[in-house]
Amino acid sequence: MKVHLKNILLQFKQIPAFTDNYLWVLVQNQQAWVVDPGDADPIIEFFEAQQIILKGILITHHHQDHIGGVLKLQDWAKGNGQKDFLTLGPLHPQISMVDRVLQHDDEIDLYPDVRVRVMAVPGHTLSHIAYFLPVGPCNPIPRLYCGDTLFAAGCGRLFEGSAEQMYHSLAYFKELPDDTLVCCAHEYTMSNLKFACFLEPHNSDLLDWAQRAQKLRDQHQPTVPTSIGLEKKVNPFMRCDLLSLLKSAQQHSDKPIVTPIDVLATIRKMKDSFS
Ligand SMILES: [Zn+2]
Repeated sequence: MKVHLKNILLQFKQIPAFTDNYLWVLVQNQQAWVVDPGDADPIIEFFEAQQIILKGILITHHHQDHIGGVLKLQDWAKGNGQKDFLTLGPLHPQISMVDRVLQHDDEIDLYPDVRVRVMAVPGHTLSHIAYFLPVGPCNPIPRLYCGDTLFAAGCGRLFEGSAEQMYHSLAYFKELPDDTLVCCAHEYTMSNLKFACFLEPHNSDLLDWAQRAQKLRDQHQPTVPTSIGLEKKVNPFMRCDLLSLLKSAQQHSDKPIVTPIDVLATIRKMKDSFS
């Protein structure tokens, strides 16, 4: 009879960096994957304290606060005699340090019995990708590592992509299970909630979450991860197909707003200058 080793549950670590970034780490059996190491120092500190080795790096997009620590982390691992870690990310000239370029629907085995799915989510940048970790033998709750595409109650700025691309990227996230944890890369929640409440002042789920989020921030606690289910209830950029959002956007636009993509384009532009 074949003997199965007991599955070891994944552990998750959320490491604050810079002023409002979160770096995400997945650990199993003292081996870690790091998502978007914009800064290597807090990760190295964590690894050395816990005697963890680097198994790999997952990059969502090429902005410096997501890749700035990649080379230092690679050097640290090599300096410790590690050779077999991998660096994976999207196709972009500024992400030349990857061992393998990832594409939409690629699946990566992070550990035995732990596989992530790659989603192409253009909008914030053109080659932005996200990583979805479904429920599995080692993971009881699905997780989404979405970089700067989806934030708690907001979405990333459209630096390279169009509103249409962002709309489809967010629509793709809406198909994920409601309990999927949204592991985004920034603590922008209070600013986003202020704007969301401006657009939807009568959304009771939103008002309730804004109060709870404020309490968390008052106690210096993170407001992320949130969940896809919550984002669908409170995040205006995930609700562009609702008539209430269309009416709200129309009040602030000279042009006729007809489609959900018009709504997203309008409210994204509004948010860029909202304070
Ligand atoms: Zn970015």
